[in-house]
Amino acid sequence: MTVFKQTPPALANQYDDDRVLRSYLARVLPPDVLSDVQESLVEMGRLAGGELYELQLADRLNEPTLTQWDAWGNRIDKIELTPLWRRAERIAAEHGVVATAYEQRHGSLSRVHQCALAYLFTPSTDIYSCPLAMTDGAARTLLNSGNQPLIDRAVPHLITRDPEQFWTAGQWMTELTGGSDVGLTETIAKQEPGSNTFRLYGRKWFTSAISSQMALTLARPEGNPPGGLSGGRSLALFYLETRDEHGWPRNIQINRLKDKLGTRKVPTAELTLDGTPAQLVRGSTDGVRNIAPLLNITRLWNGISAVALMRRGLALSFDYASKRVAFGAPLSEKPLHRDTLATLQAEFEAAFHLAFYVAELTGKSETNEISDDDRLLLRMLTPIMKLTTGKQAVMVASEVLESFGGAGYVEDTGLPVLLRDSQVLPIWEGTTNVLALDTLRALTTDDTDPSHGLMRVDAAVKGCLKGVSDARLVSVVNSAMDHAASWLAKGDEVEAGARRFSLTLGRTIELALLIKHAQWTSAHRFANLGIDLIF
Ligand SMILES: Cc1cc2nc3c(=O)[nH]c(=O)nc-3n(C[C@H](O)[C@H](O)[C@H](O)COP(=O)(O)OP(=O)(O)OC[C@H]3O[C@@H](n4cnc5c(N)ncnc54)[C@H](O)[C@@H]3O)c2cc1C
Repeated sequence: MTVFKQTPPALANQYDDDRVLRSYLARVLPPDVLSDVQESLVEMGRLAGGELYELQLADRLNEPTLTQWDAWGNRIDKIELTPLWRRAERIAAEHGVVATAYEQRHGSLSRVHQCALAYLFTPSTDIYSCPLAMTDGAARTLLNSGNQPLIDRAVPHLITRDPEQFWTAGQWMTELTGGSDVGLTETIAKQEPGSNTFRLYGRKWFTSAISSQMALTLARPEGNPPGGLSGGRSLALFYLETRDEHGWPRNIQINRLKDKLGTRKVPTAELTLDGTPAQLVRGSTDGVRNIAPLLNITRLWNGISAVALMRRGLALSFDYASKRVAFGAPLSEKPLHRDTLATLQAEFEAAFHLAFYVAELTGKSETNEISDDDRLLLRMLTPIMKLTTGKQAVMVASEVLESFGGAGYVEDTGLPVLLRDSQVLPIWEGTTNVLALDTLRALTTDDTDPSHGLMRVDAAVKGCLKGVSDARLVSVVNSAMDHAASWLAKGDEVEAGARRFSLTLGRTIELALLIKHAQWTSAHRFANLGIDLIF
Protein backbone atom coordinates (compact mmCIF):
# COMPACT_ATOMS: atom_id res chain seq x y z
CA MET A 1 0.00 0.00 0.00
CA THR A 2 1.36 3.44 -0.83
CA VAL A 3 0.95 5.88 2.00
CA PHE A 4 0.28 9.50 1.13
CA LYS A 5 2.81 11.95 2.49
CA GLN A 6 2.25 15.69 2.35
CA THR A 7 5.27 17.70 1.27
CA PRO A 8 5.70 20.48 3.84
CA PRO A 9 6.15 24.15 2.89
CA ALA A 10 9.74 25.27 2.46
CA LEU A 11 11.59 28.56 2.30
CA ALA A 12 14.11 29.63 -0.30
CA ASN A 13 16.63 32.44 0.19
CA GLN A 14 14.33 35.06 1.69
CA TYR A 15 15.94 37.94 -0.18
CA ASP A 16 16.22 36.32 -3.61
CA ASP A 17 12.65 35.10 -3.30
CA ASP A 18 11.10 38.43 -2.31
CA ARG A 19 9.81 40.35 -5.32
CA VAL A 20 8.33 43.10 -3.16
CA LEU A 21 11.53 43.90 -1.28
CA ARG A 22 13.73 43.66 -4.35
CA SER A 23 11.61 45.81 -6.59
CA TYR A 24 11.18 48.40 -3.81
CA LEU A 25 14.94 48.61 -3.25
CA ALA A 26 15.51 48.86 -7.00
CA ARG A 27 13.23 51.92 -6.97
CA VAL A 28 14.55 53.79 -3.93
CA LEU A 29 18.27 52.96 -3.92
CA PRO A 30 20.65 54.39 -6.52
CA PRO A 31 22.28 51.52 -8.48
CA ASP A 32 25.67 51.89 -6.75
CA VAL A 33 24.02 51.77 -3.30
CA LEU A 34 21.92 48.78 -4.29
CA SER A 35 24.94 46.89 -5.52
CA ASP A 36 26.84 47.76 -2.33
CA VAL A 37 24.11 46.50 0.05
CA GLN A 38 23.01 43.49 -2.00
CA GLU A 39 25.56 41.05 -0.60
CA SER A 40 24.49 41.71 3.01
CA LEU A 41 20.84 41.16 2.07
CA VAL A 42 21.50 37.97 0.12
CA GLU A 43 23.41 36.64 3.13
CA MET A 44 20.65 37.58 5.57
CA GLY A 45 18.09 36.04 3.20
CA ARG A 46 20.14 32.84 3.16
CA LEU A 47 20.30 32.70 6.97
CA ALA A 48 16.59 33.51 7.34
CA GLY A 49 15.47 30.83 4.89
CA GLY A 50 18.11 28.29 6.00
CA GLU A 51 20.08 28.02 9.23
CA LEU A 52 17.90 30.35 11.32
CA TYR A 53 14.62 28.87 10.08
CA GLU A 54 15.80 25.33 10.86
CA LEU A 55 16.97 26.42 14.30
CA GLN A 56 13.63 28.19 14.86
CA LEU A 57 11.69 24.99 14.14
CA ALA A 58 14.02 22.95 16.37
CA ASP A 59 13.76 25.56 19.17
CA ARG A 60 9.95 25.57 19.12
CA LEU A 61 9.38 24.12 22.58
CA ASN A 62 12.18 26.02 24.35
CA GLU A 63 11.41 29.06 26.46
CA PRO A 64 13.55 31.41 28.55
CA THR A 65 13.86 30.56 32.22
CA LEU A 66 14.27 32.61 35.38
CA THR A 67 16.30 31.24 38.31
CA GLN A 68 15.78 33.50 41.29
CA TRP A 69 18.08 31.88 43.88
CA ASP A 70 21.39 30.05 43.77
CA ALA A 71 22.10 26.97 45.86
CA TRP A 72 23.54 29.12 48.68
CA GLY A 73 20.61 31.42 49.16
CA ASN A 74 21.83 34.30 47.04
CA ARG A 75 19.26 36.18 44.96
CA ILE A 76 20.65 35.89 41.42
CA ASP A 77 17.61 36.38 39.13
CA LYS A 78 19.40 34.69 36.27
CA ILE A 79 17.75 34.55 32.83
CA GLU A 80 18.64 31.74 30.41
CA LEU A 81 17.76 32.45 26.81
CA THR A 82 16.91 29.72 24.30
CA PRO A 83 19.48 28.52 21.73
CA LEU A 84 17.66 30.38 18.94
CA TRP A 85 17.89 33.69 20.77
CA ARG A 86 21.56 33.15 21.68
CA ARG A 87 22.37 32.55 18.02
CA ALA A 88 20.15 35.43 16.92
CA GLU A 89 22.02 37.84 19.19
CA ARG A 90 25.38 37.02 17.59
CA ILE A 91 24.00 37.16 14.06
CA ALA A 92 22.27 40.47 14.76
CA ALA A 93 25.51 42.03 15.99
CA GLU A 94 27.77 40.58 13.29
CA HIS A 95 25.40 41.53 10.48
CA GLY A 96 24.80 45.02 11.82
CA VAL A 97 21.03 44.73 12.21
CA VAL A 98 21.27 47.78 14.50
CA ALA A 99 24.72 49.10 13.55
CA THR A 100 23.94 49.67 9.86
CA ALA A 101 21.67 52.61 10.70
CA TYR A 102 24.46 54.34 12.65
CA GLU A 103 27.42 53.57 10.40
CA GLN A 104 25.58 55.56 7.71
CA ARG A 105 27.60 54.27 4.78
CA HIS A 106 24.79 55.49 2.56
CA GLY A 107 23.56 58.56 4.43
CA SER A 108 19.83 58.58 5.04
CA LEU A 109 19.37 55.41 2.98
CA SER A 110 21.26 53.46 5.63
CA ARG A 111 17.99 53.38 7.57
CA VAL A 112 16.31 51.68 4.60
CA HIS A 113 19.17 49.19 4.35
CA GLN A 114 18.97 48.47 8.07
CA CYS A 115 15.18 48.02 7.93
CA ALA A 116 15.61 45.58 5.03
CA LEU A 117 18.04 43.56 7.17
CA ALA A 118 15.63 43.66 10.11
CA TYR A 119 12.73 42.64 7.86
CA LEU A 120 14.63 39.56 6.64
CA PHE A 121 16.02 38.68 10.08
CA THR A 122 12.87 39.08 12.21
CA PRO A 123 10.54 36.22 11.17
CA SER A 124 13.14 33.49 11.75
CA THR A 125 14.14 34.67 15.23
CA ASP A 126 10.91 34.58 17.26
CA ILE A 127 10.75 38.33 17.94
CA TYR A 128 14.43 38.92 18.64
CA SER A 129 13.41 42.16 16.93
CA CYS A 130 12.08 43.24 20.35
CA PRO A 131 15.47 43.76 22.07
CA LEU A 132 16.96 45.08 18.83
CA ALA A 133 14.21 47.68 18.46
CA MET A 134 14.79 48.94 22.00
CA THR A 135 18.57 48.90 21.48
CA ASP A 136 18.22 50.98 18.35
CA GLY A 137 15.79 53.33 20.11
CA ALA A 138 18.09 53.71 23.11
CA ALA A 139 21.06 54.56 20.86
CA ARG A 140 19.00 57.21 19.06
CA THR A 141 17.66 58.64 22.34
CA LEU A 142 21.09 58.88 23.95
CA LEU A 143 22.60 60.46 20.83
CA ASN A 144 19.78 63.01 20.69
CA SER A 145 20.16 63.78 24.41
CA GLY A 146 23.62 65.29 24.02
CA ASN A 147 24.60 63.62 27.34
CA GLN A 148 28.22 62.94 26.38
CA PRO A 149 29.25 60.73 29.33
CA LEU A 150 26.28 58.41 28.71
CA ILE A 151 26.84 58.47 24.95
CA ASP A 152 30.50 57.52 25.45
CA ARG A 153 29.59 54.82 27.94
CA ALA A 154 26.70 53.05 26.17
CA VAL A 155 26.34 53.91 22.49
CA PRO A 156 29.52 52.10 21.30
CA HIS A 157 28.11 48.90 22.85
CA LEU A 158 24.67 49.37 21.32
CA ILE A 159 25.90 49.90 17.76
CA THR A 160 28.89 47.57 17.62
CA ARG A 161 29.22 44.59 15.27
CA ASP A 162 31.35 42.72 17.81
CA PRO A 163 29.08 40.18 19.57
CA GLU A 164 31.40 40.16 22.62
CA GLN A 165 30.90 43.90 23.10
CA PHE A 166 27.28 44.09 21.99
CA TRP A 167 24.66 45.30 24.50
CA THR A 168 20.92 45.30 24.16
CA ALA A 169 18.67 47.82 25.92
CA GLY A 170 15.33 47.64 27.69
CA GLN A 171 12.60 50.28 27.81
CA TRP A 172 10.83 50.30 31.16
CA MET A 173 7.80 52.54 31.01
CA THR A 174 4.72 50.48 31.85
CA GLU A 175 3.72 50.21 35.50
CA LEU A 176 0.70 48.52 37.05
CA THR A 177 -1.03 51.91 37.00
CA GLY A 178 -0.78 52.15 33.21
CA GLY A 179 1.16 51.60 30.04
CA SER A 180 -0.80 54.17 28.06
CA ASP A 181 -1.12 56.78 30.81
CA VAL A 182 2.50 56.67 31.96
CA GLY A 183 1.97 59.98 33.76
CA LEU A 184 0.65 57.77 36.60
CA THR A 185 4.16 56.33 37.12
CA GLU A 186 4.81 55.62 40.81
CA THR A 187 8.56 54.92 40.70
CA ILE A 188 10.46 57.47 42.77
CA ALA A 189 14.05 58.64 42.15
CA LYS A 190 16.04 59.77 45.20
CA GLN A 191 19.27 61.63 44.58
CA GLU A 192 22.30 60.47 46.54
CA PRO A 193 23.64 63.40 48.53
CA GLY A 194 26.58 65.10 46.82
CA SER A 195 26.35 62.92 43.71
CA ASN A 196 24.71 62.81 40.30
CA THR A 197 23.48 59.28 40.95
CA PHE A 198 19.85 58.65 41.77
CA ARG A 199 18.34 55.53 43.36
CA LEU A 200 15.10 54.23 41.89
CA TYR A 201 12.31 52.68 43.99
CA GLY A 202 9.22 51.21 42.37
CA ARG A 203 7.70 48.43 40.31
CA LYS A 204 7.85 47.99 36.55
CA TRP A 205 5.06 45.79 35.24
CA PHE A 206 6.15 44.89 31.69
CA THR A 207 9.89 44.86 30.93
CA SER A 208 10.73 42.92 27.81
CA ALA A 209 14.09 41.38 27.04
CA ILE A 210 15.08 41.59 30.68
CA SER A 211 18.39 39.98 29.70
CA SER A 212 19.49 43.43 28.44
CA GLN A 213 22.57 45.10 29.91
CA MET A 214 20.98 48.56 30.22
CA ALA A 215 17.59 50.23 30.21
CA LEU A 216 16.00 53.61 29.77
CA THR A 217 13.20 54.18 32.25
CA LEU A 218 10.88 56.79 33.71
CA ALA A 219 10.75 57.83 37.36
CA ARG A 220 9.63 60.83 39.37
CA PRO A 221 12.53 62.66 41.02
CA GLU A 222 11.68 63.17 44.69
CA GLY A 223 10.13 66.58 45.10
CA ASN A 224 8.61 66.73 41.59
CA PRO A 225 4.89 66.93 42.43
CA PRO A 226 2.76 64.22 40.71
CA GLY A 227 0.01 66.71 39.85
CA GLY A 228 2.22 69.80 39.74
CA LEU A 229 3.23 69.46 36.11
CA SER A 230 0.79 68.25 33.51
CA GLY A 231 0.87 64.70 32.16
CA GLY A 232 4.26 63.04 32.39
CA ARG A 233 6.16 66.32 32.69
CA SER A 234 7.10 65.69 36.31
CA LEU A 235 8.80 62.43 35.32
CA ALA A 236 12.42 62.24 34.27
CA LEU A 237 14.17 59.90 31.86
CA PHE A 238 16.85 57.73 33.51
CA TYR A 239 19.65 55.49 32.27
CA LEU A 240 20.61 52.42 34.27
CA GLU A 241 22.74 49.31 33.93
CA THR A 242 21.06 46.14 35.06
CA ARG A 243 24.03 44.23 36.53
CA ASP A 244 27.32 45.14 38.20
CA GLU A 245 30.78 44.05 37.00
CA HIS A 246 30.35 40.68 38.79
CA GLY A 247 27.02 40.02 37.10
CA TRP A 248 24.89 40.72 40.20
CA PRO A 249 21.60 42.55 39.69
CA ARG A 250 21.87 46.20 40.71
CA ASN A 251 19.11 46.23 43.33
CA ILE A 252 16.65 44.87 40.78
CA GLN A 253 14.45 41.90 41.61
CA ILE A 254 12.83 39.94 38.81
CA ASN A 255 9.59 38.83 40.45
CA ARG A 256 8.47 36.60 37.61
CA LEU A 257 8.36 36.21 33.84
CA LYS A 258 5.00 36.89 32.21
CA ASP A 259 3.02 33.89 30.98
CA LYS A 260 2.05 35.33 27.57
CA LEU A 261 -0.14 34.39 24.59
CA GLY A 262 2.83 34.82 22.23
CA THR A 263 6.32 36.34 22.05
CA ARG A 264 7.22 33.46 24.32
CA LYS A 265 10.93 33.61 23.51
CA VAL A 266 11.00 37.18 24.82
CA PRO A 267 11.67 37.20 28.57
CA THR A 268 9.15 39.84 29.70
CA ALA A 269 9.43 40.46 33.43
CA GLU A 270 7.79 42.15 36.37
CA LEU A 271 10.43 43.99 38.39
CA THR A 272 10.93 45.62 41.75
CA LEU A 273 13.50 48.39 41.78
CA ASP A 274 14.86 48.73 45.30
CA GLY A 275 17.51 51.44 45.15
CA THR A 276 18.68 50.79 41.59
CA PRO A 277 21.42 53.29 40.67
CA ALA A 278 20.47 55.44 37.69
CA GLN A 279 21.52 58.64 35.93
CA LEU A 280 19.41 61.42 34.47
CA VAL A 281 19.55 61.38 30.67
CA ARG A 282 18.32 64.91 29.99
CA GLY A 283 17.11 67.15 32.83
CA SER A 284 14.91 66.27 35.77
CA THR A 285 11.52 66.76 34.06
CA ASP A 286 9.86 66.04 30.68
CA GLY A 287 10.73 62.36 30.75
CA VAL A 288 7.86 61.40 28.45
CA ARG A 289 8.91 63.93 25.84
CA ASN A 290 12.57 62.90 26.18
CA ILE A 291 11.83 59.23 25.58
CA ALA A 292 9.93 60.02 22.35
CA PRO A 293 12.92 59.30 20.04
CA LEU A 294 12.99 55.77 21.44
CA LEU A 295 9.28 55.29 20.76
CA ASN A 296 9.59 56.59 17.21
CA ILE A 297 12.24 53.97 16.49
CA THR A 298 10.44 51.09 18.24
CA ARG A 299 7.24 52.00 16.38
CA LEU A 300 9.14 51.86 13.11
CA TRP A 301 10.47 48.42 14.11
CA ASN A 302 6.92 47.39 14.99
CA GLY A 303 5.79 48.21 11.45
CA ILE A 304 8.78 46.47 9.89
CA SER A 305 8.09 43.41 12.08
CA ALA A 306 4.42 43.48 11.04
CA VAL A 307 5.28 43.33 7.35
CA ALA A 308 8.03 40.78 8.01
CA LEU A 309 5.61 38.40 9.74
CA MET A 310 3.02 38.87 6.98
CA ARG A 311 5.64 38.11 4.38
CA ARG A 312 6.79 34.96 6.21
CA GLY A 313 3.25 33.61 6.45
CA LEU A 314 2.61 34.29 2.78
CA ALA A 315 5.96 32.84 1.63
CA LEU A 316 5.02 29.59 3.35
CA SER A 317 1.43 29.72 2.17
CA PHE A 318 2.29 30.32 -1.50
CA ASP A 319 4.78 27.47 -1.41
CA TYR A 320 2.28 25.16 0.23
CA ALA A 321 -0.38 26.04 -2.35
CA SER A 322 1.86 24.62 -5.05
CA LYS A 323 2.29 21.36 -3.10
CA ARG A 324 -1.13 20.69 -1.62
CA VAL A 325 -3.57 18.96 -3.96
CA ALA A 326 -7.35 19.16 -3.52
CA PHE A 327 -10.09 18.22 -5.95
CA GLY A 328 -7.61 17.09 -8.56
CA ALA A 329 -5.21 20.02 -8.72
CA PRO A 330 -2.74 21.97 -6.57
CA LEU A 331 -4.38 24.77 -4.58
CA SER A 332 -2.29 27.22 -6.56
CA GLU A 333 -4.45 26.36 -9.58
CA LYS A 334 -7.77 26.94 -7.82
CA PRO A 335 -9.15 30.38 -8.72
CA LEU A 336 -10.70 30.99 -5.31
CA HIS A 337 -7.56 30.00 -3.39
CA ARG A 338 -5.47 32.21 -5.69
CA ASP A 339 -7.89 35.06 -5.13
CA THR A 340 -7.74 34.56 -1.34
CA LEU A 341 -3.94 34.66 -1.30
CA ALA A 342 -3.83 37.58 -3.72
CA THR A 343 -6.02 39.61 -1.34
CA LEU A 344 -3.62 38.87 1.52
CA GLN A 345 -0.65 39.69 -0.69
CA ALA A 346 -2.23 43.06 -1.45
CA GLU A 347 -2.59 43.79 2.29
CA PHE A 348 1.04 42.83 2.83
CA GLU A 349 2.37 44.90 -0.08
CA ALA A 350 0.38 47.94 1.01
CA ALA A 351 1.71 47.64 4.57
CA PHE A 352 5.24 47.06 3.26
CA HIS A 353 5.30 50.31 1.28
CA LEU A 354 3.96 52.34 4.20
CA ALA A 355 6.44 50.90 6.71
CA PHE A 356 9.41 51.43 4.39
CA TYR A 357 8.24 54.94 3.49
CA VAL A 358 8.41 55.78 7.20
CA ALA A 359 11.91 54.23 7.23
CA GLU A 360 12.94 56.58 4.39
CA LEU A 361 11.63 59.62 6.25
CA THR A 362 13.24 58.46 9.51
CA GLY A 363 16.59 58.16 7.74
CA LYS A 364 16.27 61.68 6.35
CA SER A 365 15.38 63.03 9.76
CA GLU A 366 18.43 61.33 11.34
CA THR A 367 20.80 62.84 8.78
CA ASN A 368 19.10 66.25 8.86
CA GLU A 369 18.16 65.98 5.20
CA ILE A 370 14.48 66.40 5.94
CA SER A 371 12.34 69.41 5.01
CA ASP A 372 10.00 70.95 7.60
CA ASP A 373 7.03 69.57 5.67
CA ASP A 374 8.43 66.05 5.70
CA ARG A 375 9.28 66.31 9.42
CA LEU A 376 5.62 67.03 10.08
CA LEU A 377 4.64 64.19 7.76
CA LEU A 378 6.93 61.79 9.65
CA ARG A 379 5.43 62.92 12.95
CA MET A 380 1.97 61.96 11.61
CA LEU A 381 2.89 58.84 9.69
CA THR A 382 4.76 57.11 12.52
CA PRO A 383 1.64 56.44 14.66
CA ILE A 384 -0.56 55.94 11.58
CA MET A 385 1.84 53.38 10.13
CA LYS A 386 2.26 51.54 13.42
CA LEU A 387 -1.45 51.19 14.10
CA THR A 388 -2.41 50.31 10.52
CA THR A 389 0.26 47.66 9.93
CA GLY A 390 -0.32 46.11 13.38
CA LYS A 391 -3.97 45.48 12.55
CA GLN A 392 -3.12 44.15 9.09
CA ALA A 393 -0.57 41.72 10.52
CA VAL A 394 -3.12 40.09 12.84
CA MET A 395 -5.68 39.75 10.04
CA VAL A 396 -3.16 38.34 7.56
CA ALA A 397 -1.69 35.90 10.12
CA SER A 398 -5.17 34.59 10.90
CA GLU A 399 -5.93 34.05 7.21
CA VAL A 400 -2.52 32.48 6.59
CA LEU A 401 -3.31 29.83 9.20
CA GLU A 402 -6.64 29.12 7.51
CA SER A 403 -4.89 28.82 4.13
CA PHE A 404 -3.17 25.72 5.52
CA GLY A 405 -6.45 24.18 6.65
CA GLY A 406 -6.05 22.05 9.79
CA ALA A 407 -2.26 22.09 9.52
CA GLY A 408 -2.32 25.84 10.24
CA TYR A 409 -3.82 25.11 13.66
CA VAL A 410 -1.27 22.47 14.63
CA GLU A 411 1.73 23.58 16.66
CA ASP A 412 4.50 21.43 15.21
CA THR A 413 4.03 22.95 11.75
CA GLY A 414 5.52 26.10 13.31
CA LEU A 415 2.56 28.11 11.94
CA PRO A 416 0.34 29.06 14.94
CA VAL A 417 3.15 31.12 16.46
CA LEU A 418 2.74 33.58 13.57
CA LEU A 419 -0.70 34.53 14.82
CA ARG A 420 0.24 34.64 18.49
CA ASP A 421 3.30 36.78 17.82
CA SER A 422 1.41 39.12 15.48
CA GLN A 423 -1.22 39.78 18.14
CA VAL A 424 1.26 41.77 20.23
CA LEU A 425 1.91 44.26 17.43
CA PRO A 426 -1.24 46.35 17.99
CA ILE A 427 -0.71 46.31 21.79
CA TRP A 428 2.86 47.19 22.69
CA GLU A 429 4.52 50.48 21.72
CA GLY A 430 1.09 52.11 22.01
CA THR A 431 -2.29 50.48 21.42
CA THR A 432 -4.40 51.30 18.37
CA ASN A 433 -6.56 53.78 20.30
CA VAL A 434 -3.64 55.48 21.98
CA LEU A 435 -1.88 55.93 18.64
CA ALA A 436 -5.09 57.13 16.99
CA LEU A 437 -5.27 59.88 19.63
CA ASP A 438 -1.59 60.58 19.02
CA THR A 439 -2.39 61.01 15.33
CA LEU A 440 -4.92 63.70 16.24
CA ARG A 441 -2.29 65.43 18.38
CA ALA A 442 0.21 65.19 15.53
CA LEU A 443 -2.17 67.04 13.21
CA THR A 444 -1.67 70.15 15.33
CA THR A 445 2.10 69.82 15.82
CA ASP A 446 2.83 72.98 13.85
CA ASP A 447 -0.23 75.05 14.68
CA THR A 448 -3.65 74.67 16.19
CA ASP A 449 -5.58 74.00 12.99
CA PRO A 450 -5.71 70.22 12.36
CA SER A 451 -6.64 70.73 8.73
CA HIS A 452 -3.09 72.08 8.15
CA GLY A 453 -1.59 68.78 9.31
CA LEU A 454 -4.02 66.89 7.14
CA MET A 455 -3.06 69.02 4.15
CA ARG A 456 0.50 67.76 4.56
CA VAL A 457 -0.69 64.14 4.32
CA ASP A 458 -2.86 65.12 1.37
CA ALA A 459 0.15 66.66 -0.38
CA ALA A 460 2.15 63.45 0.14
CA VAL A 461 -0.71 61.38 -1.25
CA LYS A 462 -1.09 63.67 -4.27
CA GLY A 463 2.67 63.43 -4.84
CA CYS A 464 2.32 59.66 -5.20
CA LEU A 465 -0.40 60.08 -7.82
CA LYS A 466 1.60 62.39 -10.07
CA GLY A 467 1.53 61.11 -13.63
CA VAL A 468 -1.05 58.39 -12.88
CA SER A 469 -3.37 58.23 -15.86
CA ASP A 470 -6.01 55.85 -14.48
CA ALA A 471 -8.69 58.33 -13.37
CA ARG A 472 -10.59 55.67 -11.44
CA LEU A 473 -7.62 55.00 -9.14
CA VAL A 474 -7.01 58.69 -8.57
CA SER A 475 -10.65 59.22 -7.70
CA VAL A 476 -10.72 56.36 -5.15
CA VAL A 477 -7.74 57.87 -3.31
CA ASN A 478 -9.07 61.42 -3.46
CA SER A 479 -12.50 60.49 -2.20
CA ALA A 480 -10.96 58.62 0.78
CA MET A 481 -8.94 61.75 1.64
CA ASP A 482 -12.05 63.92 1.31
CA HIS A 483 -13.92 61.55 3.61
CA ALA A 484 -11.21 61.91 6.28
CA ALA A 485 -11.19 65.70 5.94
CA SER A 486 -14.97 66.03 6.22
CA TRP A 487 -14.99 63.89 9.35
CA LEU A 488 -12.32 66.10 10.94
CA ALA A 489 -14.60 69.09 10.44
CA LYS A 490 -17.29 67.48 12.62
CA GLY A 491 -15.80 68.82 15.85
CA ASP A 492 -17.21 67.07 18.93
CA GLU A 493 -17.29 63.52 17.51
CA VAL A 494 -13.63 63.68 16.56
CA GLU A 495 -12.19 61.76 19.54
CA ALA A 496 -14.71 58.89 19.32
CA GLY A 497 -13.86 58.37 15.66
CA ALA A 498 -10.08 58.76 15.95
CA ARG A 499 -9.41 55.09 15.25
CA ARG A 500 -11.54 55.05 12.08
CA PHE A 501 -9.95 58.33 10.99
CA SER A 502 -6.38 57.06 11.47
CA LEU A 503 -7.07 53.74 9.78
CA THR A 504 -8.71 55.57 6.86
CA LEU A 505 -5.60 57.72 6.49
CA GLY A 506 -3.31 54.69 6.85
CA ARG A 507 -5.10 52.71 4.17
CA THR A 508 -5.35 55.72 1.86
CA ILE A 509 -1.62 56.42 2.07
CA GLU A 510 -0.93 52.73 1.52
CA LEU A 511 -3.06 52.77 -1.61
CA ALA A 512 -1.30 55.87 -2.91
CA LEU A 513 2.12 54.30 -2.27
CA LEU A 514 1.03 51.07 -3.98
CA ILE A 515 -0.08 53.03 -7.04
CA LYS A 516 3.20 54.96 -7.09
CA HIS A 517 5.20 51.74 -6.96
CA ALA A 518 3.03 50.02 -9.58
CA GLN A 519 3.51 53.04 -11.86
CA TRP A 520 7.29 52.79 -11.42
CA THR A 521 7.21 49.02 -11.91
CA SER A 522 5.33 49.15 -15.17
CA ALA A 523 7.75 51.78 -16.43
CA HIS A 524 10.78 49.71 -15.42
CA ARG A 525 9.62 46.21 -16.33
CA PHE A 526 11.90 44.49 -13.90
CA ALA A 527 11.89 41.17 -15.74
CA ASN A 528 15.66 41.27 -15.38
CA LEU A 529 15.17 40.76 -11.65
CA GLY A 530 13.72 37.37 -12.51
CA ILE A 531 10.76 37.67 -10.14
CA ASP A 532 7.30 36.25 -10.75
CA LEU A 533 4.35 38.39 -9.83
CA ILE A 534 2.58 35.96 -7.52
CA PHE A 535 2.90 32.30 -8.42
C1 LIG B 1 4.35 41.11 25.41
C2 LIG B 1 4.39 42.49 25.95
C3 LIG B 1 5.61 43.07 26.21
C4 LIG B 1 5.69 44.37 26.69
N1 LIG B 1 6.92 44.91 26.94
C5 LIG B 1 6.99 46.16 27.46
C6 LIG B 1 8.27 46.76 27.76
O1 LIG B 1 9.32 46.18 27.51
N2 LIG B 1 8.29 47.99 28.32
C7 LIG B 1 7.16 48.68 28.59
O2 LIG B 1 7.24 49.79 29.09
N3 LIG B 1 5.93 48.15 28.33
C8 LIG B 1 5.84 46.91 27.76
N4 LIG B 1 4.61 46.36 27.48
C9 LIG B 1 3.42 47.07 27.91
C10 LIG B 1 2.64 47.71 26.78
O3 LIG B 1 3.36 48.78 26.21
C11 LIG B 1 1.31 48.15 27.41
O4 LIG B 1 0.62 46.98 27.78
C12 LIG B 1 0.48 48.97 26.46
O5 LIG B 1 1.12 50.21 26.22
C13 LIG B 1 -0.93 49.22 27.01
O6 LIG B 1 -0.88 49.67 28.32
P1 LIG B 1 -1.78 48.95 29.44
O7 LIG B 1 -1.49 47.50 29.40
O8 LIG B 1 -1.59 49.64 30.74
O9 LIG B 1 -3.26 49.14 28.93
P2 LIG B 1 -4.23 50.36 29.25
O10 LIG B 1 -3.48 51.63 29.10
O11 LIG B 1 -4.92 50.11 30.52
O12 LIG B 1 -5.27 50.25 28.05
C14 LIG B 1 -6.40 49.38 28.08
C15 LIG B 1 -7.27 49.68 26.86
O13 LIG B 1 -7.74 51.01 26.93
C16 LIG B 1 -7.48 51.70 25.73
N5 LIG B 1 -7.22 53.11 26.06
C17 LIG B 1 -6.30 53.60 26.93
N6 LIG B 1 -6.39 54.94 26.98
C18 LIG B 1 -7.38 55.30 26.13
C19 LIG B 1 -7.96 56.54 25.76
N7 LIG B 1 -7.50 57.70 26.25
N8 LIG B 1 -8.97 56.53 24.86
C20 LIG B 1 -9.42 55.38 24.32
N9 LIG B 1 -8.91 54.17 24.64
C21 LIG B 1 -7.91 54.13 25.55
C22 LIG B 1 -6.28 51.03 25.12
O14 LIG B 1 -6.27 51.19 23.72
C23 LIG B 1 -6.52 49.58 25.54
O15 LIG B 1 -7.30 48.93 24.58
C24 LIG B 1 4.51 45.09 26.96
C25 LIG B 1 3.27 44.50 26.70
C26 LIG B 1 3.21 43.22 26.19
C27 LIG B 1 1.87 42.61 25.93
